[in-house]
Amino acid sequence: MGFPCSVCGICCKNIGGIKELEAFDLGNGVCKYLDSANRCMIYSTRPDICNVKTMYEKLYHRHYSKEEFYALNLKSCEILQAQAKKA
Ligand code: SF4
Ligand code: SF4
Repeated sequence: MGFPCSVCGICCKNIGGIKELEAFDLGNGVCKYLDSANRCMIYSTRPDICNVKTMYEKLYHRHYSKEEFYALNLKSCEILQAQAKKA
């Protein structure tokens, strides 16, 4: 099962405060590697923090089932998407 990302790009427009992505922030919370079609320009070499599957396998498998972890991440997507609609 892969993470069901809809490629909305909203997470990549909200990277402010994420230590691992500090150097990627254009200064407005948008990642410099996000293209105009909301695609990651460095997808195959993106940092682990950007990869739900990798983060699960490296760290979060200790705390959650894969279904639980993906559901938590999807919840975060929904919160960011709702915030973006309001803005
Ligand atoms: S906010 Fe969620 S659905 Fe949108 S691009 Fe990011 S991971 Fe994918
Ligand atoms: S590196 Fe790619 S996946 Fe990670 S925040 Fe930037 S655009 Fe998004």
